[in-house]
Amino acid sequence: MGSLTEVTNTGDGFMATTIDAVVNWGRKNSLWPMPLGLSCCAIEMMSMVGPRFDLARFGAEAMRFSPRQCDLMIVAGTLTWKMAQAARTIYDQMPEPKWVIAMGVCASSGGMYRNYSVVQGVDLLFPVDMYVPGCPPRPEAVIDAVLKLQKRIERERAWSTGRQRPMPANPRGPILARS
Ligand code: SF4
Repeated sequence: MGSLTEVTNTGDGFMATTIDAVVNWGRKNSLWPMPLGLSCCAIEMMSMVGPRFDLARFGAEAMRFSPRQCDLMIVAGTLTWKMAQAARTIYDQMPEPKWVIAMGVCASSGGMYRNYSVVQGVDLLFPVDMYVPGCPPRPEAVIDAVLKLQKRIERERAWSTGRQRPMPANPRGPILARS
């Protein structure tokens, strides 16, 4: 815990720090991913939590298919407009604070699927914190995104109220009526 300062020579000893540092330290080291595996990228995401790449080293391996217990959505694959409402509902069900990683070019920008049926980047539906390029990205690239996200969480205000990031303007109002 690099930001903590130990004060010595005081008899009993104590540590001085800020609430932000303690809360963010806990948050960044216990990310619970919500895997949104939509197509081929999901295979790389699965290997990321396996023994070879071992995301558990960074405290983020507890994948649960339960949005209300998760705080990190990993969108891995091609998101179609037909699935968009479901993806947005899952995002809405996750409690704040929450973060999103767009894994691969399909999730980041629609990739090679430049057509009417594919969402041209999941940031049209909800805010994205990290974009991972590649088709598919290697597991190390996603782990790198998790580490960079942890660095960002370190600097956040722990007690900010309400939604931490603005929602994007909704280009498909009738489809995502609740946004
Ligand atoms: S980025 Fe490539 S590997 Fe990933 S979902 Fe798209 S086509 Fe599949």
